[in-house]
Amino acid sequence: MRDFAQEIEQRKLAGLYRSRRLVSGPQQPTLVADGKALLSFCSNDYLGLANNPEIIGAMTSSLPDVGVGGAASHLVCGHHEAHHHLEQRLAMFTGRSAALFFSTGYMANLGVISALAGRGDTVFSDRLNHASIIDGCILSRAKVRRYPHGDVAALEAMLAATSGHKLVVTDGVFSMDGDIAPLRELARVCRCHDALLVVDDAHGLGVLGPQGRGSVAEAGLSEEEVPVLVGTLGKGIGTSGAFVAGSEVLIDYLVQKARTYIYTTAMPPALAVATCASLDVVERDGQRRSHLEGLIRKFRAGAQALGYELMPSRTPIQPIMIGDNWAALALSQSLEAQGVLVTAIRPPTVPEGEARLRVTLSAGHSERDVDLLLQALAKSRPILSGGGAGKPAI
Ligand code: PMP
Repeated sequence: MRDFAQEIEQRKLAGLYRSRRLVSGPQQPTLVADGKALLSFCSNDYLGLANNPEIIGAMTSSLPDVGVGGAASHLVCGHHEAHHHLEQRLAMFTGRSAALFFSTGYMANLGVISALAGRGDTVFSDRLNHASIIDGCILSRAKVRRYPHGDVAALEAMLAATSGHKLVVTDGVFSMDGDIAPLRELARVCRCHDALLVVDDAHGLGVLGPQGRGSVAEAGLSEEEVPVLVGTLGKGIGTSGAFVAGSEVLIDYLVQKARTYIYTTAMPPALAVATCASLDVVERDGQRRSHLEGLIRKFRAGAQALGYELMPSRTPIQPIMIGDNWAALALSQSLEAQGVLVTAIRPPTVPEGEARLRVTLSAGHSERDVDLLLQALAKSRPILSGGGAGKPAI
């Protein structure tokens, strides 16, 4: 037997131990975690919709009609008209012919990649793709080739040297860096080399593009150019679940083949109702996006003036690059002591030596919230310039 306790101890010694916080009350910028009220800058609720009264109202008022449970998988008797309606709504929202509702983004990526690629095929995956994409690649049993982050020329050379079925998969917005994939160029090389392009726009939906339709819409790419579009609903859309959008035949194929769609209980129909209500808000309320853009600009200017190293990101994901695991933990703890919550992200979520504080901004934040974050960062700045952060208690 492996010595689990010893492995945990080793993680602690390396500054890699992760613990969970117990949240009470709703998800919102002022979060109660472990009984303490903190100003949170680490959720993915980019538009501040996770606790929106209109969406809560839509969900609760649907409950007497649709119940609480999914009760069965979609292919048995779980496919409710609320799911069907959401799929139609998602297809409209993304400008695709059809969509398929999955339980989570993790499951969508596992299901899609393993359904669309198999033994003998090759999957090309950006080096910074999300863990669910990496795991989907492994599950597919296809040959996996990772290309340097955002490097379309390197990808093109790899595609040119490969025969057989080819799948290229990329995040639309990279979850830990906040930068946007070169989607137009990726679409072009995929067309030239007969590769199927899959874009996971988990962090672009709701935030980027006209009416929040995402990074693919912002790049003006059609269903033909990005044939497989994955989106998650637990981030900018504020609810939970995920979807894949594309042609009718793609969706029909996934219904037949995507095991993470077939062999799992359908999501509660009320959640589909809530998500439709959320899409109405997302489309209608451009103010949320413009407020968010203002907060992003304010944060970037303020943090850079304090001498913090940021990434070239214009999205709500604004990591502060630290490098050392202990220094990242020390900075996070110092902010928390001042009432501000920003978690330290360490390997294996990010590459070795690239620990960071992943600041995420939300339309739910006010200008004053960003001022408070910047004040806390100013006070904590000596931690990074003081020559070695020391090992904080974990
Ligand atoms: N794709 C990306 C790019 C993500 O960042 C995440 C979650 N952080 C997922 C997929 C998984 O989505 P979900 O949380 O719905 O499982």
